[in-house]
Amino acid sequence: MESNIKRIITNPLLFTPGPTPTPESIRAAMATPTLHHRTPEFEAIFAKVARRLREMLGCKEVLMLASSGTGAMESCISSFATKKILNINSGKFGERFGNIARALGLSVEEIVTQWDSQVELDSIREMLEKHKDIEAISFQICESAGGLRLPYEQIARLVKEHNKHIFVIADGITAIGVERIDTTHIDALIGGSQKAFMLPPGLSFIGLSEYAISHIESNSRGYYFNLGRELKNQRKNTTAYTPATTIIAGLGAYFDILDSAKISFDDIYEYAKRLASASRESLKAIGLHIYPKAPANCMSVASHERSGEIIKTLKQCYQVNIANGQDRLKDKIFRINHMGLVPLHEASFVLNAVELVLQKLGIREFSAEANRIFFQHIGA
Ligand SMILES: *Cc1c(COP(=O)(O)O)cnc(C)c1O
Repeated sequence: MESNIKRIITNPLLFTPGPTPTPESIRAAMATPTLHHRTPEFEAIFAKVARRLREMLGCKEVLMLASSGTGAMESCISSFATKKILNINSGKFGERFGNIARALGLSVEEIVTQWDSQVELDSIREMLEKHKDIEAISFQICESAGGLRLPYEQIARLVKEHNKHIFVIADGITAIGVERIDTTHIDALIGGSQKAFMLPPGLSFIGLSEYAISHIESNSRGYYFNLGRELKNQRKNTTAYTPATTIIAGLGAYFDILDSAKISFDDIYEYAKRLASASRESLKAIGLHIYPKAPANCMSVASHERSGEIIKTLKQCYQVNIANGQDRLKDKIFRINHMGLVPLHEASFVLNAVELVLQKLGIREFSAEANRIFFQHIGA
């Protein structure tokens, strides 16, 4: 599949876990003359994109919103709870769900974990038994703060087995397009444009279960983020307010890339998995520690006490942009993106550059090990 991936190499190389670089054909699609949104031409694009999103997310309905991912997070909290939620907080984005709920006047029961550690299922069970008035649970599938994969399948199943009326809200912003998501027990699956879809920020979407659909059909809440009103409109391939027409056209071009190169969703997931595991092996081989105890495939996160210098030197000497940690992990970890159609030669360039930087900083002598191990594990 990698031979099908061509991208204009951006300079510097953008290897942050969102935003990701936008391929030329997507940029070209977004540069075509603006379409008015209440026209059959735009509705045709909207219909195609919505259909592909439903296939990709495995959801009965998918709503598109003109907002960054946080807007979709807020609309799910406001639509599916009025009094109390249970939130799993394993990092910055988990913290955000709690902050959204409190800002909306809800009370929040929260389970806070270390940013490198998965939540204990028993602690969720205890919370549910103690607080019978919990209406919804929120969590990330991949928490981007530390690159942690949450055991979302078990969490979602546990909640539904406890009480099928509790809404399960899953932030899949760094999981969609990276792995196939099991939506059996998920009511709202949240995605955003600037991660694996390689689009500019500004479009978010929400995949809905039948239970979620029937709820918003009869309990429409809010104004701009009124999912009931959106559902009514989007079933007719239009939106309540002006949609992010340009980004939706770009999303159409993303699906066109897959179609024209005959890349299936499973191909993408398989590639992301290989890329992530080969990258982790490569980083370990040059003496780095992988930060999360359960790593997600959307990014590789390594911890090092000189991460700040490593990131700065990579940029200065090799024109490679990777991400620092946030908050308490600032200058303690660095994060390398695997989302989107990352070409192998770029991924190997970045890992080689990391190894060269370790030598420059006097941390470890260069031996071309990063690339050797990367190619050994990628099977190329
Ligand atoms: C990027 C990201 C978001 C969305 O943030 P926005 O800046 O609002 O797009 C939400 N959750 C996770 C896990 C993310 O990585």
